Order: sequence, then C-alpha cells, then structure tokens
Amino acid sequence: MSLPVKTLVQAAANSGLRAVSVRHSSQAPKVALLGAAGGIGQPLGLLLKQDPLVAHLALYDVVNTPGVAADLSHIDSNAKVTAHTGPKELYAAVENADVIVIPAGVPRKPGMTRDDLFNTNAGIVRDLAAVIAKASPKALIAIITNPVNSTVPIASEVLKKAGVYDPKRVFGVTTLDVVRSQAFVAELKGHDASKTVVPVVGGHAGITIIPLLSQVTPSTKFSEEEIAKLTPRIQDAGTEVVNAKAGAGSATLSMALAGARFANALVRGIKGQKNVQCAYVASDAVKGVEYFSTPVELGPNGVEKILGVGKVSAFEQKLIDASVPELNKNIAKGVAFVKGN
Ligand code: NAD
Repeated sequence: MSLPVKTLVQAAANSGLRAVSVRHSSQAPKVALLGAAGGIGQPLGLLLKQDPLVAHLALYDVVNTPGVAADLSHIDSNAKVTAHTGPKELYAAVENADVIVIPAGVPRKPGMTRDDLFNTNAGIVRDLAAVIAKASPKALIAIITNPVNSTVPIASEVLKKAGVYDPKRVFGVTTLDVVRSQAFVAELKGHDASKTVVPVVGGHAGITIIPLLSQVTPSTKFSEEEIAKLTPRIQDAGTEVVNAKAGAGSATLSMALAGARFANALVRGIKGQKNVQCAYVASDAVKGVEYFSTPVELGPNGVEKILGVGKVSAFEQKLIDASVPELNKNIAKGVAFVKGN
C-alpha cells in the first residue's frame, strides 16, 4: 500500500503549483472564495487569480470585497473577478461554482487553541453551507476555517439536512501541514524542498496532525531523536506563527499558498487530471472515526479514491491511535452544533 501512495503523492507534487503543467480544456471552472477580504483571503485570491485553470473568481466577504476585487481585476490574467458583499449577495457568489474555498472566520491569538474558535466559526460555516446547499449543491467545498476537525462535520451535517450531501465533495484543507512538513524536512536533510513529499494524516489540530516521516520521498532516514523533535514541531507549527505574530493573527501567507495548491488540485481533478493530495474527508481509512485525512485521489467528482495511511511505523501507528478519540470529540461537537440549531 505504501508504495503506490508514495508514487501517487510524488506525482501529485510534481504536477502541482510547484511545477505547473497546464492542459486547457473547454470546461471553464468558477471558483468562489468566501472570506476573500481576510488575511488568508487576499493573498489566496491573488494566487487563484493567477491560476490559468480558473475562469471566474467570485470573491465574497461581509466587508471590503469591492476593493479587493477591483485590485485583483487589474491583474492581467484571464480569470474574471466578481465582488459579492454581505449575505444577500452570497447566493450569486456561490451559484454554479465548481469549487468553493472557505477561509471565512476568526483566526487564533496567542494562547488560543483552534477549538477556542468554535463558538464564532461554527455558525459562520453553518450559514455559508446552508446557502451552498441551495445555490451550488454539486460544488467541491474546501474548508480552511478552523477548527477544521469540526467545521467539516458541520458543513456535512448542513448538507445532509438539505438532502444534498455527497461525502466526496467536502474537504478540510490540511495542505498547510503538508507544506510545513516538506519545508522542515527539506531544511533538516538538505533536500530540494520542491521535490520533497511528506504525507500528513489525521486531522488539523495538535496531536491529530500526524506527519508520516516513514513515507518521505525521496526516501529519507530519520533518527529516533529527529522524529521525536520534528513531529511536535510540525504539530505546533501553527502556534509558532500565532506567537510570532503576537496577536495579529495566524498563518496567512503560507496558508494562502497551501489553499491555492489545494484549490488548483481540485480544479485539475474536475478537468480530468487526476491527482493526489492529503485532505480531511469522510473516510473509512481508519477504524472508529468518520473523518480522517489521508492521501486521496482527486478527479471529476471530488474524491475518487481514498488511498489510506499506507504502511506506517509503530511510532506513527501510536499517533494514529491517539488521534482517534480526539477527532471523535471534535467531530461530535460539530455534529451536535448542527443538530442543536
Ligand atoms: P481574518 O480575520 O484575517 O479573515 C477572515 C475573513 O473572514 C475576514 O475578511 C472577515 O470579514 C471574513 N468573514 C467573517 N465572517 C464571515 C462570513 N459570515 N462570511 C464571509 N466572510 C466572513 O482571518 P484569517 O487569518 O484569514 O483566517 C481565517 C480562518 O482560517 C481562521 O478560522 C483560521 O483559524 C483559519 N486557518 C486555517 C488554516 C488551515 O490550515 N486550515 C491555517 C491558518 C488559518
């Protein structure tokens, strides 16, 4: 199992934004970005505007969208940019969208966990998902808003209630964990960062973030001490940024790159260019938990195949086992939030 996953992940990395090889087709994808005026939204919009596969970029936020849209629309790339501000304009923003990327919501401040954002962000994701269910039920939905471990179940429950849920179309974006792992491993081992591939499985918070250092490409040996240092650094990397920003928010620029890489992968999939990314999705990859991030094959309908965790080390298996009760808590909290509202 580990070999094909590695091979596919490598192929994904080689065909991603790192080495763009674009094949145009007649399909003209619309990407809607919800939270477009925020710290992540603005640089993510900039990257999506430059993605040659995107034909229409619809920017939605509750404030400041016209300025961001006017600015981006002056960039000489082909994507048409439209601005949509406030709940009355949300329907038009997401209508007929092929991909919807959601970084709407508040970020962490020092001392906060991602779960501390739940009270504010749960309602935001629920309300956005309710409109998506009506206006664009077939869209692929990529959720960046934290806590991702809970916001993905929240969106899924809303779509279920509306009778339009397709588990292949709802994604929690964990790409930043992959990007960080690749940066840290490349730095530690002197690898070419652009050719280093590290699968990250589990979820997107604390101990649920599980880098599979035994599956790094190119094949890389780590000492036990290196693994013991690198694993928590990857798990706490978001907090490293939150603390360095000292109250001014969490990761925005690296997240924008990661979000653009993932959105580009979804769009390529829609256009028939199958590729592999890690993502937090409804999954039977690990027993006893309903949502789990693993490498997944993306295609025209979203998730085409769940590739699973592959062959993991005893250390990684322990981390996977420990993540299950934590994920279940996060998932149950999201499900209860929608059921109670
Ligand atoms: P930000 O505060 O800079 O921007 C958030 C934007 O969302 C603002 O423009 C705000 O107006 C908008 N917004 C608020 N309510 C909205 C609504 N109902 N509809 C549409 N837009 C709305 O925050 P940020 O730094 O861009 O972070 C956004 C989210 O991304 C946070 O929840 C953060 O925790 C999360 N995040 C996720 C990852 C990840 O790896 N998945 C990484 C970093 C940050």
